[in-house]
Amino acid sequence: MIDKHGLPAVQVLEEIRALRGADQPTHGGRLFAYVYDPAVPGLDALATAAHAESAHVNGLDPTAFPSLLAMENALVGAAAGLLGGGAGTTAPDVVGSVTSGGTESLILAVKTARDAHPEIAEPRMVVPASGHAAFAKAAHYLRVALDTVPVSAQTLRPDPAAVAAAIRPETVLVAASASSYAHGVIDPVTEIAEVAARAGVRCHVDACFGGWTLPWLRRLGEPVPPFDFAVPGVTSISVDLHKYAYAPKGVSVLLHRDPALRTPQYFAYAEWPGYVMINPVIASTRSGGPIAAAYATLRHLGEDGYLRLAEQTRDAVAGLADAVRAVPGLRLMTEPESTVVCFTSTDPELDLFVLVDELAARGWHTQPQLAYADLPPNVHLTVTASVAPRVADFGPDLADAVAATRSAGPVRLPEELLALATALKPDALTPEVFEKLAAGLGLGAGPGPTPARMATVHSLLNAAPTALRERLLVEFVGLLQRPTW
Ligand SMILES: *Cc1c(COP(=O)(O)O)cnc(C)c1O
Repeated sequence: MIDKHGLPAVQVLEEIRALRGADQPTHGGRLFAYVYDPAVPGLDALATAAHAESAHVNGLDPTAFPSLLAMENALVGAAAGLLGGGAGTTAPDVVGSVTSGGTESLILAVKTARDAHPEIAEPRMVVPASGHAAFAKAAHYLRVALDTVPVSAQTLRPDPAAVAAAIRPETVLVAASASSYAHGVIDPVTEIAEVAARAGVRCHVDACFGGWTLPWLRRLGEPVPPFDFAVPGVTSISVDLHKYAYAPKGVSVLLHRDPALRTPQYFAYAEWPGYVMINPVIASTRSGGPIAAAYATLRHLGEDGYLRLAEQTRDAVAGLADAVRAVPGLRLMTEPESTVVCFTSTDPELDLFVLVDELAARGWHTQPQLAYADLPPNVHLTVTASVAPRVADFGPDLADAVAATRSAGPVRLPEELLALATALKPDALTPEVFEKLAAGLGLGAGPGPTPARMATVHSLLNAAPTALRERLLVEFVGLLQRPTW
């Protein structure tokens, strides 16, 4: 890797481009997860130039690099203004920080709530089952117990009364999503915030996904229920700029209703001989690149831009949902209310995991979601503005892929794999057992880390209990992450 004399710049870039050739397409509106593409000409070049301008600036010390402080404050102000805060609102004192992503925003929201109550020895939090997995990660990292409230299989939402019942004297935070990542539904935030406030507990609204689309959709006349600081009892909100604000990766905003609520977020330390450290977020040294890129993106797109993109996205969602409705054997998990289309199969002969492969073979990359509690396996589409010009092609390809799926028939897992998936205790999954399993599934056999057809892998995971799913994934990624010499 580290050549004796180093390589010419052109050659290095060629290497990276060659590696990138194996990736899924980040642009073009055919990848329904991971990427958020507005398809605005020139925006990538602008964001890249802005990123380069500030890449070496260090966010560690806002007094040394006031440019970052200025851009951060502008991003926080924009997010707060969009989400019911600022002068003339019921939340005039909103403050916030720029973080590296939704996960960091959620970890900090949980840490802030936990550290606001040093007297609670064993803090807990209440999160709907549809809440993002990052809440569980935060709970795990921070040793805050997680009380999960089930969601209805019909509405995909939690019952506020069940949320209320889950609150205990040790509860430091109650969460709601607007919208949920998995299904794109907006939780009953008003009711949840009310029960939290009544118990004297903070309420975080995870708007990582919907925070930058719902306000624009509302302005377009869509019926968006209250979910932001306009709702009494909402104490903090997270919104990812690297999702629907269409900024390059590495930028989210965590907002608090007022500065006092934020104070426990900070980490200050003077008990060492180096500089006095004061960190608002998890990272200490951090690049100005993502912040500058997000700043440039917001400045360039403006209100008109975001409204236009929200309109395109809304129309794409409607078109994709129509395409799903037109196929017998498929059912929308819920009527789309934001930017997700999510469907399941009502016909045992129509295997969704095979369908996902058939769609991929036709250039459409969707995200399978496994069965969970009483929710069936389903297919998730994150829809962004770049999908709009592709919608007309999706319907025929979906119909075609469904026909191919029916004629292929459902995945039949070999008996011994199925037995392993259902009976194996997670602790019994040694690396040796996993390697046998991986070989049986064709993992690592082809040119890429996963086979082109993933239906068998997804079926196996789907058959496994959640604890075993987790173990299998740990072993799999552990196998992928090996140094090259
Ligand atoms: C994406 C997402 C997160 C996590 O964000 P990352 O940027 O991937 O860390 C959290 N909550 C919701 C609702 C999300 O959509």
